[in-house]
Amino acid sequence: MYDSDKMGFSTNQIHAARPEKVGPGPLATPIYQTSTYIFDSTRQGAARFALEEPGYIYTRLHNPNADEAAARIACLEGGEAGMITASGMGAITATLWTILRSGDHIVSDRTLYGCTYALFTEGLPRFGVEVTFVDFSDVEAVRRAVRPETKVVYCETATNPDLKVVDIAAIAKAVHEAKPDVLYMVDNTFTTPYLVRPLKLGADIVVHSATKYLNGHGDVIAGAIITRQELIDRIIPCGLKYMTGCAAAPFDSFLITRGLKTLDIRMDRHCANAMKVAKFLEGHPAVRHVCYPGLEHHPQHALAARMYEHGGFGGVVSFELDCDRARTAQFVDNLQLCTLAVSLGDAFTLIEHPASMTHNTYTVEELAKIGIGESLLRLSVGLEDPDDIIADLKAGLDKIEEEKQ
Ligand SMILES: *Cc1c(COP(=O)(O)O)cnc(C)c1O
Repeated sequence: MYDSDKMGFSTNQIHAARPEKVGPGPLATPIYQTSTYIFDSTRQGAARFALEEPGYIYTRLHNPNADEAAARIACLEGGEAGMITASGMGAITATLWTILRSGDHIVSDRTLYGCTYALFTEGLPRFGVEVTFVDFSDVEAVRRAVRPETKVVYCETATNPDLKVVDIAAIAKAVHEAKPDVLYMVDNTFTTPYLVRPLKLGADIVVHSATKYLNGHGDVIAGAIITRQELIDRIIPCGLKYMTGCAAAPFDSFLITRGLKTLDIRMDRHCANAMKVAKFLEGHPAVRHVCYPGLEHHPQHALAARMYEHGGFGGVVSFELDCDRARTAQFVDNLQLCTLAVSLGDAFTLIEHPASMTHNTYTVEELAKIGIGESLLRLSVGLEDPDDIIADLKAGLDKIEEEKQ
């Protein structure tokens, strides 16, 4: 019997929750490209619908490929149970549509992924759910924002794009003291369980955009939810089954399982490359400011050094150029190796302009409040040779400096 508790992270990302040998015994789990499953008898069909007998019914609920990916991610996160969804937004909405009802309240960090922010400011309020935004670097302010009707406390491990690091253990303690049954939900997309395991730090629910590092190859849209079995048992028949219908495709689930096998070595390289790039950017006169938790001047550097595992600080670096928006756009358009695209966690180095792209759901005033300027760029450092990434950036930055002379 495989015992994941006795194994290390690298072993678990390959072996945990492997299905039992089937048919001719393929090493890789076959892709179960099927919408539905055959019942042996009407009695069996009825027993499965009544949840009296385990087994497959229909791929919107369960599929062997999705279940394998989910169980493996749950193991890596140190969670009891998990499920896979068709997107990261599917993971967030399937969870919230299961937990919340009209009149409920959420306390959320102010800096969020753009679509999560739109859900909290536009989507949920239409259904009578109120959201209070607080800066999660102020733990006492988060505690004070919790009310009797607060159901969920929500943040991202490292905020996007400014890379503020949230003290998950301190927030978990404060909000559970304020209201023991509050569900503390953390979007762990940027850090992955290789760097941070929010459930071990006191969070109740972890969500992911598996589109990013978990898959790691830029060819899948998917999400994941990891939490207690009891909650997964509520989210599948509600949030997934009829509130969102956001089931992950069998092939996409297969690709995530495949991507997970190299999560640790990819993350090590992303982190090492990002650190080199951040240090280079910090020393260039055309760069006004660099946000990267691995740099000593980062406001939460000490916290990140304590909270992050495996000695890395993530693969995303944000930086502000010392020029206006038009010149910033020109800089991006002239890059040769860094590719202009949103998303992150890919082998390719990707660059984007948050104010006009991922964070265009924020107004100009809101952007200023969370420190997203017009010349801020977000770089998802890929797996290329770091010197090549740096050379590409340097060519553009040198040109900005030359023009100032
Ligand atoms: C991309 C992303 C999401 C949304 O995930 P999709 O897979 O695109 O739906 C949510 N949170 C964060 C932090 C993300 O980067």
